[in-house]
Amino acid sequence: MLTDRRRQALEELAIALGTERVFTAQEKLEKYTTSTLSSKKRKIIGVAFPLNAYEVAAIVKIAAKQRIPLYPISIGNNWGYGSRVPSDDSCIVLDLSKMNKIVHMDVDSGLITIEPGVTAKQLHDYLISNSAPYMPPVSIAGPNVSIVGNALDRGNGASAIIDRFSTIMHIEAVLADGSVYRSAFADESTTGGFFRWGVGPYIDGLFGESGFGIVTRMTISLAPIPERTEVFMIRIKRYEEFCKIIPLIQKAFFALGSTLTSIRIQSPTTTFSRLKEYSKADVLDNGVLDPASVTKALKLHSLDGWIILGTLQGERPVVEAAHTSLRRLFSQKIMFAHDKKIRWMEFFCRKLPAKIRQRFLFLIVLRSYLRVSSGMLPFKKPRLPFWKRGRLLSNVENNDYDRDIHAGLIFFSIVLPISRSYVEEAIRISEKICATHAIEPLISFNNFSDRCLRMSLPILFDKNDPEETRRAHACYRELFVKCKEKGIYVYRAPTSAMDMVVDMDHPFWQTAEKIKKALDPDNIMSPGRYSKYKAPHKEENV
Ligand SMILES: Cc1cc2nc3c(=O)[nH]c(=O)nc-3n(C[C@H](O)[C@H](O)[C@H](O)COP(=O)(O)OP(=O)(O)OC[C@H]3O[C@@H](n4cnc5c(N)ncnc54)[C@H](O)[C@@H]3O)c2cc1C
Repeated sequence: MLTDRRRQALEELAIALGTERVFTAQEKLEKYTTSTLSSKKRKIIGVAFPLNAYEVAAIVKIAAKQRIPLYPISIGNNWGYGSRVPSDDSCIVLDLSKMNKIVHMDVDSGLITIEPGVTAKQLHDYLISNSAPYMPPVSIAGPNVSIVGNALDRGNGASAIIDRFSTIMHIEAVLADGSVYRSAFADESTTGGFFRWGVGPYIDGLFGESGFGIVTRMTISLAPIPERTEVFMIRIKRYEEFCKIIPLIQKAFFALGSTLTSIRIQSPTTTFSRLKEYSKADVLDNGVLDPASVTKALKLHSLDGWIILGTLQGERPVVEAAHTSLRRLFSQKIMFAHDKKIRWMEFFCRKLPAKIRQRFLFLIVLRSYLRVSSGMLPFKKPRLPFWKRGRLLSNVENNDYDRDIHAGLIFFSIVLPISRSYVEEAIRISEKICATHAIEPLISFNNFSDRCLRMSLPILFDKNDPEETRRAHACYRELFVKCKEKGIYVYRAPTSAMDMVVDMDHPFWQTAEKIKKALDPDNIMSPGRYSKYKAPHKEENV
């Protein structure tokens, strides 16, 4: 049953936008109610589709008058963190996917101003069709994700500038009172953005991982296409040897500077999960794969052990000089590869008998890494969320992660220094806790900057199975607590864990909640998103 205020808000929205851009029918709301986090449905009141910032401001004014919370999403494919489902009940979802203009591009400086609905594919195609000498900011999440939404949720890219929040140069946002915020040097017509700090207090940062406003426009910086992109791979069979390499990775970042643009580290099971599929029948009694079988399978493809992948980018002589530095640093065998070399090896492999050819499967790993490192979209949509759905991947009929009744996924995402003790601790905690909850520890690390690694552990489960779902969430919460005890922190959380992130004993969160209260006293902006603030009227609204 809708309360009078909710009905009134929806009627006013329909007048402002037209009924075709305000969804209220249950079947149309369905896809905004479930995510990969669980099969439980979130209650929402409606969905509104604005076309521009003026309409967003009009919607906010209606919501503020009726005190109805809004939950803005850009595309809403925030898989593993809550997708398009609000972090609290009884919201109107503001779907910004129709605001998809590329507003302006300054080709000389590589600054581009876009609206929230611009997808990775749209920007990729735009840059290529305009022969812009900049790398499209792609990620492993694939083509249909939002550049703005990903940056606001502190996403990590696969090409050039890994830390997507750091590419934000200017922001335009609508605040809870319907007013518009713009960065210090931005006005309605110019985009600017060459100096992100402006003058006076720096405010843009407030809009990441918060419910402080609805971002309607963003200027981001793009990385120029380098003369040469190469990838390298180091394979380390023994775990102890792998641990010794971590400090060398930090040294490599210091020695090579901006030439070393990315590093990815993956555990044997993670490599296996990217190459193979399995059914429930293949796991041990404790619910996880047998490590010995994983090693045996990977050996066939010359991919056993821990794998370190890296990208070198820059002028050709600089990239080639980096080979010498890396060879000097790492005593292990390093394989360097560029596009032509991989193509040549692939050509050579095609002539080999199948049995021998399978030893060269590592070429697929190099090829995929080179592809995304160069700003090309991944070959296909990742199938990871389906990996543990109880049947073989080849039997997946539909590939909508959120609506698939089995595909459960929660990302456990933490940041840590590029330090051996932290990496070992994160692996030790993850393996131990995952084992107690019968969850496969699919561990991988990649660099966020030249001093920071992020570890991402996708907790995969069958969300059609209540017991597996309970175990998956219990696993997440235990990982969170145990890592925090060791000074290893979650930096991006699923909506199901906001209560754990916000720690009101910490001065940081006390300040964040004061800002929330000042900007949004009625708590109508993304309630519960990185916040525990409750508006005084909250009870009336439920
Ligand atoms: C297999 C797989 C691989 C993945 N790989 C990656 C990866 O490499 N890197 C990565 O970062 N993620 C990855 N993800 C996670 C996720 O799917 C992506 O981060 C995706 O880009 C987020 O969805 P979106 O871009 O549609 O953003 P949205 O879902 O639109 O936005 C994310 C959140 O930001 C807030 N928000 C969005 N827009 C606005 C706005 N305009 N104003 C205010 N608040 C807003 C909302 O709270 C929203 O829930 C992966 C997921 C899967 C399943």
